[in-house]
This record gives sequence, C-alpha cells and structure tokens, in this order.
Amino acid sequence: TYYPQTGRLVVLGAGESGVGAAILGKDKGFDVFVSDIGSISNGYKEILKKEAIAFESGKHTNQQILNADLVVKSPGIPGNTPLIQQLREQGISVISEIEFAAQYTNARLICITGSNGKSTTTMLTYYMLQKGGANVGLAGNIGKSFAFQVARENFDVYVLEVSSFMLDDMYHFRADVAVILNITPDHLDRYDYKLENYVNSKFRMIQNQTEQDYFIYCADDEETMKALSRFESKAILIPITQEKEIVQGAYLDRDNTIIIHIPNREIFTMNIEELSLQGKHNVYNNMASGLIAKVQELRNQTMKESMGSYVNIPHRLEHVAYIGGVNYINDSKATNVNSVWYALESFSTDIVLILGGVDKGNDYDMLRDLVKQKVKAIICIGKDTSRIHDAFEEEAEVIVNSASMGDAVEIASHLAKKGDTVLLSPACASFDWFKNYEERGDKFKEAVMAL
Ligand code: ADP
Repeated sequence: TYYPQTGRLVVLGAGESGVGAAILGKDKGFDVFVSDIGSISNGYKEILKKEAIAFESGKHTNQQILNADLVVKSPGIPGNTPLIQQLREQGISVISEIEFAAQYTNARLICITGSNGKSTTTMLTYYMLQKGGANVGLAGNIGKSFAFQVARENFDVYVLEVSSFMLDDMYHFRADVAVILNITPDHLDRYDYKLENYVNSKFRMIQNQTEQDYFIYCADDEETMKALSRFESKAILIPITQEKEIVQGAYLDRDNTIIIHIPNREIFTMNIEELSLQGKHNVYNNMASGLIAKVQELRNQTMKESMGSYVNIPHRLEHVAYIGGVNYINDSKATNVNSVWYALESFSTDIVLILGGVDKGNDYDMLRDLVKQKVKAIICIGKDTSRIHDAFEEEAEVIVNSASMGDAVEIASHLAKKGDTVLLSPACASFDWFKNYEERGDKFKEAVMAL
C-alpha cells in the first residue's frame, strides 16, 4: 500500500466523486471530513448526513484539513491552489478519487481518456460488454462514482472515463486496458498554457502498466505519436488507424470495412455503413471499443450487434428535427474546437453554424478550411463573440450575433435553405448563458421544436 489505510481522511469537494470517496473511506474505517468551498447540493448533504459523515460547505477550515493523513481532491480543484500546495509541502498525499478507490478493488479496469470521444467510447464499450454478459460497472466522469461502486457494488470489470484532471492526481493506479483516443488542445488554462503538460497528463494513463496490460492508441493522432516515444510503455501496444493497413490493431480497408485483429483472437470485420454511430470520429470510437471487446474476448456476433445498435447519449451530433427540408442537429457537447472540426466534417450539406460561449483560449485556425467549404453563415451565441468575428471574417459570408438561443435558432431558420443543416456545435463552454452544456442543448431543442 502506498497511502495511509487508517486515520483522518479529508475529502475536498463534495460532488459525485467526493461523496463517493467519503463513503468508501468511512466503510474502510477512516475518520472522514468533507469540505467544499462552494455549496453542496441538497441531495449530497442528505447522503452525507445519512452516512454520518462530517462536512462543511462555503469554506475550507484549514486547521482541520492540514491535519489530514490523506486527502482526496475533486478534479475540479486546480493543483496550484495555495491549500493544495501547503498540503503537499507538509508531505500529505493528495490523490484523486480513482486513485483512492482503486486500492480497494481487484476488478479489471478499462480506462478511456482523450480530448474527445471519451463518453461515447466509454458508453459504447460498457454497452458492448454488458451485451456480452460481463458483470460490468460504468464509472469515472460518468454516472455513479467509482469509489461508491467499489464500496457498495461488486463488479468484475469497470469501464472508466478518465479526464486529464483526474489523471493529474493519479500515481500508482494501474490500468489493465488503457485507451488514449486522441490529444488536441483543451483545458490549457489548467496546464500553464503548455500543450506538453496536457499531453503528459494524458500519458499518466499508462504509467504503471505491465507486460500483461494493453495500451490502445490512435496512430493517426500527431500528438500521441510524438509523445509515444517519450514514454516507455511496457504494455502490449495496439494502434487504431484510418490511414493505413496494419497487421495488429484496428484499421479501415479499401471498401470501408473495419478490420480488428489482435493475436490469438478471431479477426473481426464490419463495414462502417453498418455502424449505428456515423461520422469519421465515430469510426475511431468504434475501433477503440471494438478492440477492447476483442481483448475481453467478446464474440464477433455480440460485437457486431452492439456496434450496429448502440444509441448515443444526447447532445452529441444528435438529430433534433427536419423542418422545411432543413436538418437540425444538436452537438452541444462540442465544447472545444476539435470536436467542431469533426462535426463539420460529418456533413456534406451547407451548414448554418451556431457557435460561441465562454472561450477557453480557442485557436480557430483548424476550422478555417471547413468553414470556407461548408458554412454559409455563423450565428454567435454567448457573451463575447469578438474572437469568432476575427477568426472567420474572411471565410464566412455571414457572421451575426444573437441575443438568446431562441433568437439564434430563429435567425438560423431564416438563413437555412432546403437541404441545409443547422448545427449547434459551440466550441466553447456554456456557463455564460447556461448552467451546463445539457441545458444549452435542451434550449436549442426547445427552440427548434417551437419553430
Ligand atoms: P468527451 O467525453 O471526450 O467530451 P464525447 O463522446 O462526449 O467526448 O463527444 C463530444 C464531442 O466530440 C461530440 O459531440 C463529437 O462532435 C466529438 N467527438 C466524438 N468523438 C470524437 C473523436 N474520436 N475525435 C474527435 N471528435 C470526437
């Protein structure tokens, strides 16, 4: 064991992961204290009370926190806050909920990270393993916390969606199967605006892997390939690619058939037209999930049925309605520039694009060509739209601001002609006008239905 197994456990941040860690800590005999500098939702307060776990909200009582034997920190708290630094200076381990909980389970851990496609690939994998009859849990950034499930459920295998913020506080964690889908700039505000730091964070995913473990990565991804040589991986390396034929891994052959081939397993093939999730990005996601399924020895029949029937969670290139020959698509989950690139890439029609929100230091350069080819108008949402105007003044014929989502959809419906697509794919965070990306997507859908 690397961390204290008894004593005072302080949990910073009382969200899903923090509350789960507190419950697991309590079950394991720790004296637990939960502290959240913001407010704690009523639901979580009730749970903490019921479990007889001490907590505070609206403040951090440093005296009590600095007296901890072990600290579990929510991924939302940046590592450079004074309190966290002080804890580290005092030699107190500060770890993520995943790192903490992994100590208490022997389940097989399948971990998926990447800048984009994490949720889709995680859910698809979970769906597939379930169909294959596995006793499988779904955790990480999705649904019930990993720690809670380790405490109160009994799964043989977990599919975990892991973000870079979680990885930052993971040290001894070992993934049986690690997947890095892709790496493109995101969240750089938390990484001193250095892409390298963000890449390093993602590669923490493979840091403790052994010869028995698998590392699935995308050979078409520039940053991943650059970094691969820097990190010595002991695991069995399995690439995915859409650009060439390979002997081991997943690739696309000339008639758009996905070929999945790893040693000692039957070859799997499926044409991309049979996939329930369409678009080039989803071919990657299906390849990654398919490889995991192969590693887990699923039957080809089960894989094929799952990959042909999986329905994605909402807000990811979600079809909303056809109105007057115009296709309305909700891609509210596209909170960075790269996912907008894939969204634009997926359509062969002219597009009216709804874009904007809270800018995270976006570089719109990579969208220029696609905007020029496909986007007939950009409608800006959100508080500050000046960077969008600057970025696309030469590429887009029309760039207009809107006053609300309803307004944006109304303008879009006037600009779109029969056969066009109206696409909400904002490239930005949502919290200037909305609670979260889900609310943003829901407002879009409401506005479309009101047309
Ligand atoms: P994440 O959980 O990493 O944010 P999601 O699966 O929720 O990813 O997808 C978010 C958006 O990213 C989708 O709406 C889609 O447009 C885009 N996307 C999905 N998969 C990929 C991929 N493999 N590569 C690039 N973009 C993707």
